Amino acid sequence: VERTLSIIKPDGVEKNKIGNILARFESAGLRIAALKMAHLSRAEAEGFYYVHKARPFFGELTEFMSRGPVVISVLEGADAVAKNRELMGATDPAKAAPGTIRKDLATSVGENTVHGSDSAENAAWEIAYFFAGSELT
Ligand code: ATP
Ligand code: MG
Repeated sequence: VERTLSIIKPDGVEKNKIGNILARFESAGLRIAALKMAHLSRAEAEGFYYVHKARPFFGELTEFMSRGPVVISVLEGADAVAKNRELMGATDPAKAAPGTIRKDLATSVGENTVHGSDSAENAAWEIAYFFAGSELT
């Protein structure tokens, strides 16, 4: 089995879509192995998105991610990384396939409702960023 990190971003929480999104994961056969709600500080958001620090949208992205609470989960299952990204849809909601989270719920590239790890290697780093070993089941 494989694990991936998911974040329901502040816009998803503001729109009351936590249950909607978690249900999509479970319906697709992914098991929720860890789960928490948190309000990230600006510094925590910057640390998480450190790989994007040179990108022009870094300030906007980290301001947005620290605007309100998020729901962070670890999803487990066969091909969890790819399966989650398929459920999420393209980064730009306008280009996302029908039936994906971003097509159905997101409004813009900046506010695109969910984050998902892009590789198993990055997933391991992202999971360790938010969860202690004892919080993983
Ligand atoms: P995520 O990493 O959040 O799962 P992603 O892997 O689809 O999304 P990345 O290229 O890793 O996309 O970009 C990280 C995040 O930065 C995007 O989800 C989006 O919120 C934001 N972002 C990317 N491109 C832009 C842009 N041109 N303008 C504003 N925000 C952007
Ligand atoms: Mg990414």
